[in-house]
Amino acid sequence: MAEVILRNVTKRWGGFVAVRDQSLTVKDGEFMVLLGPSGCGKTTTMRMVAGLEEPTSGDILIGPNRVNDLPPRERDVAMVFQSYGLYPHMTVADNIGYPLKLRGVRGAERQRQIEAAAAKVELGDLLHRKPRELSGGQRQRVALARAIVRRPQVFLMDEPLSNLDAKLRVSTRAEIKHLQYELGVTTIYVTHDQIEAMTLAHRVAVMSQGEIRQLDTPEAIYDRPADLFVAGFIGSPPMNLVRGEHASGVFTAAGGLRAATRIAGHRGAAMLGIRPEDVTVAPAGAGDLDASVYAVELTGDSVLVTAQAGEARLIAKADRAWRAEPGTTIGLKLDATRLHLFDADTTRRLN
Ligand code: ATP
Repeated sequence: MAEVILRNVTKRWGGFVAVRDQSLTVKDGEFMVLLGPSGCGKTTTMRMVAGLEEPTSGDILIGPNRVNDLPPRERDVAMVFQSYGLYPHMTVADNIGYPLKLRGVRGAERQRQIEAAAAKVELGDLLHRKPRELSGGQRQRVALARAIVRRPQVFLMDEPLSNLDAKLRVSTRAEIKHLQYELGVTTIYVTHDQIEAMTLAHRVAVMSQGEIRQLDTPEAIYDRPADLFVAGFIGSPPMNLVRGEHASGVFTAAGGLRAATRIAGHRGAAMLGIRPEDVTVAPAGAGDLDASVYAVELTGDSVLVTAQAGEARLIAKADRAWRAEPGTTIGLKLDATRLHLFDADTTRRLN
């Protein structure tokens, strides 16, 4: 196992900067998720670690070694991609054992390692099958088992769950989480799915336009997003963001929203953020502000209430039995301990 270090890494294509002056240390045994919208540079970052793309400038280290000039096969990394990369004419066993064959591991020893890896991802009964006789989730697990037998210093995974249906995605995600627990291999995992990032990562690097906007634990990123981009990207439904004015420790917005922020020293346009689960519904007049019900949606375990207050449209999470007709006036209560305040101009967090 090993640390992976990026030092001031930049990748340009002509005048276009895909990754900008990025520095990142993935600790030995850490599960690091690169999270961001399409085109933010996460795949490019990972491909540079793999050796499939050359940085324009900066250094990449795996363990103590600078690997910029090493070809992919000498970097001791194993890759798992969204397309499984299995050989269609080979059985599951031969696919898993292929890296061993290349390394000259033979006979009973090869068989033993194939079976051990297959057991880890619960493929033991399918070793004689061909890839076309497997479900998407089973194919993905073959790809994982093949990565396991390599015993690499680093796993690199690029959207490995994106081809799976919702149910398989959840079970294979748990598979990957358990593998990390069991093997403890340093992992860099690329996804645009915030749930995958939150559930799998020790730390998440949230990226936008080639830069890391926040690098922290899933809890910290959810509870204290560093700027408006991270605040809007993490959380489903997304955080409510209301534009208004902030002065003398009080935020005010059209529509009657007023909230004490305890922040001195900031004056001007601001965005107040509050997550739907931190907004509760109350009878009209009994909350922090009144609002008019716009839509009521049952999600299964709760009800999402969208309500209009002046210019602002807020989503609250209510008990699953809660109902009201659109147009009804209700109160909304904001949990004062869970407010987020951002400077509207710099977009940075203020509290
Ligand atoms: P996705 O989730 O869509 O894969 P990503 O965050 O992984 O997105 P990258 O694949 O890293 O994004 O791409 C980053 C940017 O670099 C994109 O704007 C992309 O169009 C651009 N890019 C990627 N490869 C090349 C290339 N070979 N030549 C020119 N531009 C490229």
